[in-house]
Amino acid sequence: MTTTLSGKTALVTGSTSGIGLGIALSLAKAGANLILNGFGDASAVIAEVQQFGGKVGHHPADVSDPAQIADMLAYAERDFGGVDILVNNAGIQHVAAVEDFPVERWDSIIAINLSSVFHATRLSLPGMRSKGWGRIVNIASVHGQVGSVGKAAYVAAKHGVIGLTKVVGLETATSNVTCNAICPGWVLTPLVQKQIDDRIASGIDPQQAQHDLLAEKQPSLDFVTPPQLGELVLFLCSEAGSQVRGAAWNIDGGWLAQ
Ligand code: NAD
Repeated sequence: MTTTLSGKTALVTGSTSGIGLGIALSLAKAGANLILNGFGDASAVIAEVQQFGGKVGHHPADVSDPAQIADMLAYAERDFGGVDILVNNAGIQHVAAVEDFPVERWDSIIAINLSSVFHATRLSLPGMRSKGWGRIVNIASVHGQVGSVGKAAYVAAKHGVIGLTKVVGLETATSNVTCNAICPGWVLTPLVQKQIDDRIASGIDPQQAQHDLLAEKQPSLDFVTPPQLGELVLFLCSEAGSQVRGAAWNIDGGWLAQ
């Protein structure tokens, strides 16, 4: 993909790991300045993204807290002149049957996986509208379109993200701002490794555990990769992607075709 994003600033929530980091690297490679966000020691990740020559910052906002999201957007305005590309990616998972689901885990999944998308969007949109260009990409999931047992909060939040994406896509439809969701299937990141580890802990061989996880849902029997997701974000940021609006785009090895 040859999209040039030089002069644009991208904020990717949850970009110290996994999918967010893959997307941040693709955007930086295409020339964008990057604001990273997420937990853990960010110095190695900053250095990795800086190799492409753009300006790179990190804000440690816990996106479950609307005040910290506002602080992150104020930092973006002050140090980068605002956000042109917002990738709402931060997310967590918890697996339990609905009647056993810990109430505080429900609340934090809804706050991190859904409400943070609302807050970052409402705070970024005015700047995008005044500059006359913007891209909002929400990393939803196949679980925004179908359910799986044990994932009540995650599935509810991701369905909510797709609903919110449609509304923002409509409210920006006559502008140069677009809002879309990407719906990955299994991607081998720490979030999914934990689910494989749970299977291994129940006595299953590691390779078998990984195979079983894929075979239950993903017909390709192969993982989607962060760089593939990064390329899809670049497409949505390109001129060719400018009439994709309010969409929920599957990239899932065939999961939703079944
Ligand atoms: P990950 O655990 O590797 O990374 C999650 C990132 O979010 C990390 O950088 C972490 O520090 C950050 N984060 C977590 N809680 C946060 C908070 N409160 N505030 C700020 N940052 C926070 O997970 P991943 O697999 O890369 O998932 C990224 C997104 O992709 C999530 O929204 C997830 O639901 C979605 N997704 C993942 C898969 C998959 O198979 N891995 C599939 C579909 C969708």
